[in-house]
Amino acid sequence: MKKHILIIEDEAQIAKVLKIELEYEGYTATIRHDGKSGLKTALTEKFDLILLDIMLPELSGIEVLRRLRKAGNYTPVILLTARNTTLDKVMGLDQGANDYVTKPFEMEELLARVRSCIRYKSLIEESNEEKSLLIVKDLVVNTDTREVTRNGKSIALTPKEYDLLLYLLINKNKVMTRENILTNVWGYEYEGETNMIDVHIAHLRKKLDEGFGSPLIHTVWGVGYVIREK
Ligand code: CA
Repeated sequence: MKKHILIIEDEAQIAKVLKIELEYEGYTATIRHDGKSGLKTALTEKFDLILLDIMLPELSGIEVLRRLRKAGNYTPVILLTARNTTLDKVMGLDQGANDYVTKPFEMEELLARVRSCIRYKSLIEESNEEKSLLIVKDLVVNTDTREVTRNGKSIALTPKEYDLLLYLLINKNKVMTRENILTNVWGYEYEGETNMIDVHIAHLRKKLDEGFGSPLIHTVWGVGYVIREK
């Protein structure tokens, strides 16, 4: 089946050229010319990739991306930015964009990024069928290889951090007490020192949550920790 790409771009000429090039490469493409209708289409139809301009009428590209991720939609997004400012890129990547290109871009470069984003998405879908992947939002843990990625970016964890993450992931949406964590991750009975867990959680959070917009690990005060899907 042909991969379907959504182009949200207000400059009609750019959108048209993109559509023609993508169709020539064997994709199907849909165009929306403003942020509001782009967001609506992205949320109601299924796409393999979204090319999202930042400067858009109605809603900015950053806002479209923020609302998309907030709604639990993790379709890969490549931002098209006219301004070559670091701020745009950082904000975009913080909100969960997978990649960006700066206008004016070389079509070949864009197509290469499109292929790479789509390959990443198919990889997740295929492996997910083999059940060796644990996925929450844009976090993917491969329990065969112990690889951890967020939004396609590799994250290096210590063995203990990995075990802790795995334990929270397997029990996602359930609050795990420090005693639960101590017994199951450290494997011995609770003996009063639980701040070691807080320290490990803090390290894990720094690696997993910093720079990725939406936090995965939540503290339930007086109780423990939980990874929430929503
Ligand atoms: Ca624009």
